[in-house]
Amino acid sequence: MSDKLPEDIQAIFQLYDQLLDANSLGREVEKEIHQGWDAASSLKFVVERYAARFQNMDDPYMRERAVDILDLSNRILNNIFNADTDALSLSVPNRPCILVAQEVSAPMLAEFPRERLAGIISINGSNNSHAAILARAMGVPAVMGLQRVSISALKENELFIDGYSGKVVVHIDESSRRVYQALIDEEEALQRKISEEGDQPCITKDGCAMSLLVNAGLTANVEMEQFKQGDGVGLYRTEIPFMMRERFPSEREQYELYKSVLSTHPNKEITLRTLDVGGDKPLSYFPINEENPFLGWRGIRLTLDHPDIFLVQVRAMLRASIGLSNLHILLPMISSINEVDEAKRLIKQAFLEVKEEASAESQMLSKPAVGIMLEVPSVLFLLPQLAKRVDFFSVGTNDLTQYLLAVDRNNARVSSLYSSYHPSVLAALNQIQQYSFANKVPVTVCGELAGEPLGAIALMALGFRKLSMNAYSLRKINWVIRNTNIQELKALAPDILAQESPEAVRSLLSKYLELNGLGGLVRAGQ
Ligand code: PEP
Ligand code: MG
Repeated sequence: MSDKLPEDIQAIFQLYDQLLDANSLGREVEKEIHQGWDAASSLKFVVERYAARFQNMDDPYMRERAVDILDLSNRILNNIFNADTDALSLSVPNRPCILVAQEVSAPMLAEFPRERLAGIISINGSNNSHAAILARAMGVPAVMGLQRVSISALKENELFIDGYSGKVVVHIDESSRRVYQALIDEEEALQRKISEEGDQPCITKDGCAMSLLVNAGLTANVEMEQFKQGDGVGLYRTEIPFMMRERFPSEREQYELYKSVLSTHPNKEITLRTLDVGGDKPLSYFPINEENPFLGWRGIRLTLDHPDIFLVQVRAMLRASIGLSNLHILLPMISSINEVDEAKRLIKQAFLEVKEEASAESQMLSKPAVGIMLEVPSVLFLLPQLAKRVDFFSVGTNDLTQYLLAVDRNNARVSSLYSSYHPSVLAALNQIQQYSFANKVPVTVCGELAGEPLGAIALMALGFRKLSMNAYSLRKINWVIRNTNIQELKALAPDILAQESPEAVRSLLSKYLELNGLGGLVRAGQ
């Protein structure tokens, strides 16, 4: 792939590399082999364990990693059995193709000749899969999780696909063909414009500067490369290195990781979140069994009960920050004031320890900024007390939505009730912004909402000026910002807050995008 994809995108495959590394999956397979199992069975046992671990996670993105692991194992099995791996043969020569598979994987995409790849249909899978991320990065339309359609119904047919709505059209008449072709042409023109202007300053038409940051930590190095574009890292999720191992990573291992993150951009703020495991993000070596894991021992609750884990992590962060002054420490799942006091006491203890140990360099140890996630509704009523204690707020709209609406963010049965555009979520966001602005507390929004065109303009209308998002959303949101007018958005705020349903909010925001020539970001065409 080296000549076909930019380096940052190639880094997606580093997850495979890491899994194969002797410190994770590789070693566990070896252990099984030493117990007397053959190579293929050993691999199967370990992979199933790994995949189940990922499938049980609360983050949909992380859940999707199970697919990568199963795909990786299939590839190794193919090698073990010497099977024919040349699975992709193109039956129609010299014409663009839509790749249809039960489960499209990232390497499958990588193997497909790019110049022939017009689109992707994956019968299973979702928007959060690596294949979907890769498809977005390659600019290839994708419909993920089509379900209930047999591949044979699509095979060797002429198809049109709409990646925005997830629509697949078979058996096309001539007039529809003309309509779809016009949409394709418009879409291409729009994408060209977005990528040409992607590096332009992030300022609205009427001169309001917005700050865009990156959410990092989910995939090996992808974001590290990407955040060259943004103003820093608004959220680095530290749980992944903990999940990839069979034991807690040592202070040294954590130090090395955090050092590499912090030193990539010494002049930009880098926000490292302390461990947010528990709930549905389990550690295999630290099992927790609970009836209601989302309401249970999660994030700061777990680490405060285990100050040893917390101290090692914070010490690693502080040591990594010696000589730099960009470290921001973010505390997840805060619901009470005493949690902040206790965490700050431990951070102070770690700070004094590191300062004393690193006596020669200790002059170069700066005090980190300490902030909290606003994601549990109880904090809405404690903002003044919390603001006195911390340097910044970061709003986690994913969990705030889940807890405010009492809708499990992973439960498909209630997924239609889960929406960050719900009037109550917007009212909560408005309250947070009003308070933070009036009291000069820096505030970032780092949930998924910030990386969606509709979400970004809603947040701008409410007054938020710092948004942290998935690296691939950066250019798109930059373009949205450059084509909007902050005065108009501000004027829209009362209307947004007055809507009575998520659908009404979305339709109001979509109208604004349409009026400003940005409708093409949420539907096909320009
Ligand atoms: C959130 O809850 O919005 C958030 C950013 O954190 P996570 O998705 O990791 O829970
Ligand atoms: Mg959260």
